[in-house]
Amino acid sequence: MAGSVEKIESLWQREAAAYAARTPKSAVLAEEAASHWLKGVPLHWMSDWELPHALFLKEAKGARLWDADGNLYTDFCLGDTGAMFGHGPEPVVKAVAGQMARGATAMLPSELAPEVGRLLSDHFGLDQWQVTASASDANRAIIRWARGVTGRPRILIFDGSYHGAVDDVFVRIGAGGRTELRPGLVGQVADITATTAVVPFNDKEAVKAELAKGDIALVLTEPLLTNIGMVPSDPGFIAFLAEAAREAGAFFALDETHTLSSGLGGWGRVHGLRPDFLVAGKPIGGGVPAAVYGFTAEVGARIAAFNETRAPGHSGIGTTLSGSALQLAAIRAMLAEVMTEAAYTHMEQLAARLEAGLTRVFKEKGVSWHVLRVGARAEIGFTPNPVRSGAASAERMNHPLERALHLYLLNRGLMLTPFHNMMLVSPETREEDIDRLTQAVSAFLTELFE
Ligand code: PMP
Repeated sequence: MAGSVEKIESLWQREAAAYAARTPKSAVLAEEAASHWLKGVPLHWMSDWELPHALFLKEAKGARLWDADGNLYTDFCLGDTGAMFGHGPEPVVKAVAGQMARGATAMLPSELAPEVGRLLSDHFGLDQWQVTASASDANRAIIRWARGVTGRPRILIFDGSYHGAVDDVFVRIGAGGRTELRPGLVGQVADITATTAVVPFNDKEAVKAELAKGDIALVLTEPLLTNIGMVPSDPGFIAFLAEAAREAGAFFALDETHTLSSGLGGWGRVHGLRPDFLVAGKPIGGGVPAAVYGFTAEVGARIAAFNETRAPGHSGIGTTLSGSALQLAAIRAMLAEVMTEAAYTHMEQLAARLEAGLTRVFKEKGVSWHVLRVGARAEIGFTPNPVRSGAASAERMNHPLERALHLYLLNRGLMLTPFHNMMLVSPETREEDIDRLTQAVSAFLTELFE
């Protein structure tokens, strides 16, 4: 149901030539940058876009983006969620410019600290907070706190999950069900397979078996897997995890970095589930590198008691620019003025329109694909229905098809996230953007099967 391998390849070749022809300035910039940057780009992930040469950004605003040649794109990638609420939201631009002029970072809590703390608690429903520079760092911090407070060595995560560049999470279930390092991991020397348990998503028995060993400090999960295609949690699975973890004396953490799309306060809030720890990164600073982790008052009390007992010296938690005045100004603007009920209503409505439009197109074209949506985040899956595990999701991936679809859309002014079939709807996305995307996917399928 995916179109012939030859057809996909010929579409890709044709679109690659069209891309090269319409982005000459990017081609020149790529050549100039090549010798100064690893893989020619400031973050090597940026070379994961499979393009004849990198696309260089001139400017982005709201849900629009212009490349160095002045080509306009409607942005459904939105910085892979970092700009989920639009590029350069006005309240953030204003707050950040003002704070920059008044001092960005001073190793002192800014005057905004009480207000931002209240906003975080109101928004997410947890009691206490800390700021980090990235979601990776927030996850690293909660893993340390959980291990420190419980005195237990292991954490439990799910096969196919992603929680950032945190050593502890780079394991997967390998051949014969053995825990192994993820292939591709660079420079790992400590044996994390001994201290991280990894089990299939939606597998209650596997979770129970690991928790029964009595040495798990933290169960860390996304509300659904969003980094291996999207894999929904079975109804009740996340609530089961929270309960089972606590019963076994472990903490339960929700990584909401990608699921802030769910609605006001994230997936947990929307579904009435209160974790021990919550992590929210990427868009929370409106583009300023920032993430937060929160915890309940009970967890806060246990951390405080633990801190009484630990030796003085480096905690291994925190980085110098974290909790800065600049981050607080950006987070305040996001929570108070950008991530509002009205913004979420708009995002939800348009994302539902996208889901309905694409579902209709798949039916019309007779392709057995589906769209899975969590609020403002939607993902195309190359199977008739969602799957239940990371392994099943990895199996259905079709890399040549995905890159052909992405480039076809990019050449028509529609940008999707590379290494995902994911589309994000921002408060700045318009109805006509949604319809243009739906029509372009339809045109792609027509060509693929003609
Ligand atoms: N948690 C989740 C669920 C993520 O998807 C990601 C990034 N894709 C991260 C954490 C890490 O975010 P960052 O790279 O901004 O640290």
